[in-house]
Amino acid sequence: MHIYDTLTKKKKVFRPRNKKRVEMFVCGITPYDSPHIGNLRSFLNYDMIANYLRKKGYKLTYIQNITDIDDKIIKKAQEENTTCKKISEKYFSELKQILKKLNINSVDKYAKATDYIDQIIKQIEVLIKKGYAYQSGGDVFFDVTKFKEYGKLSGQKLSKLKKAKRTEEDKNKKHPYDFALWKAKKIREPFWNSPFGPGRPGWHIEDTAITQHFFGPQYDIHGGGIDLIFPHHECEIAQQEAASGKKPFVRYWVHSGFVNIKGEKMSKSLGNIIPASLVLEKYSPELIRFTLLSVHYRSPVDYSDKIFKTAKNALEKIYEFSERLEKYKPKDEKKECKVIKNQIKSFFLSMDDDFNTPKAFAAFFNVIKKANLKIDKNTLSKKDIKNIKKFFSDFEDIFKIKTKKTKTQKIPDDIKQLLKARQKAREEKNWNESDKIRDALLKRGWQVQDTKDGQIIKKI
Ligand SMILES: [Zn+2]
Repeated sequence: MHIYDTLTKKKKVFRPRNKKRVEMFVCGITPYDSPHIGNLRSFLNYDMIANYLRKKGYKLTYIQNITDIDDKIIKKAQEENTTCKKISEKYFSELKQILKKLNINSVDKYAKATDYIDQIIKQIEVLIKKGYAYQSGGDVFFDVTKFKEYGKLSGQKLSKLKKAKRTEEDKNKKHPYDFALWKAKKIREPFWNSPFGPGRPGWHIEDTAITQHFFGPQYDIHGGGIDLIFPHHECEIAQQEAASGKKPFVRYWVHSGFVNIKGEKMSKSLGNIIPASLVLEKYSPELIRFTLLSVHYRSPVDYSDKIFKTAKNALEKIYEFSERLEKYKPKDEKKECKVIKNQIKSFFLSMDDDFNTPKAFAAFFNVIKKANLKIDKNTLSKKDIKNIKKFFSDFEDIFKIKTKKTKTQKIPDDIKQLLKARQKAREEKNWNESDKIRDALLKRGWQVQDTKDGQIIKKI
């Protein structure tokens, strides 16, 4: 098995530190706002990776952090006149609901930064003692000039990095790229006491303090969105390798690609952020998983209704085939189809090749295509059926996408209410209103049909 490593910029043979035991850490959210499609895609990708590693027999420990203390949370709490704790709990619970709906449940532990303040302080103390960090005006900074390999992950040289605009915080720094490990207490901000004075941790240090606590100074896989390579992950390497003197800090740096909207990066400033809840309202969890996972985890996804439509057709093909297979009565009992066996093999080889899901999906559909042809000719054997069933069950475990249609479709309450209102409008022969509601339903991804027995609704 090979995994692409951002640090060495190549696919490397997967060799965990302890044979079959794998330790994976992925950067989680900063809960200050509702999760968006970008968060959702990243967590789905790592869910697939975790499921696949477990399917291959690895004993995986998967940890995600929750940055529950941060500038953005503080700002939001001040705006809403509440506490940071309330803000982070609200948005973390929103995320949990969305993950539950999407069946993302591979994470063993969500570690909140504020639960590891002692470990954070301890790591900062080590860095000061070793001369990699310095105190300045109540803050503690990491001295990037002391860590000679700073820039190795993102491929940048400190001397060539453009200077960022100087902020208020910068006045205490020696070098503009020095980063805060500890931030001095400010008015109306939560704080903890420490040997460096009252304050709160910087962003980067929480990850390494948490992983040092659970995994030690070195571990196998570190994941996160591609936007976190610099400075976040760069700073993590500097902190951990400086503190422990051991390298590499992690064996595989795995980065998940962006979700673009009409070719543009999704961002607050462009106002094109798509909330995860909206996606879940429009499409079923199965369809979301299928659509997003059919793109390679490192490639960008260009979000549009079209990609869901294409995926929906593909998903229907799987359902149709499964139904056909259920009804099929094989004649021949022994002969195994080589093409089917090879395509199943190709599926796993593709997954072993840096989780190449587009190739794996193609192999999956080749199995269906070949089996359909064999059913036409009545030559699909019992052994073939057994192979296909086992393969489909593996597919379901890895992607958590069912290969059979679920009979019951849950209609959300607000959709039910719209249906009721439409029924009333029709009884009153208010066709204008009835059409308006039909269009509103369509916009939300529900198609309504009028039959002699009343309205029938289905998810598009
Ligand atoms: Zn992180």
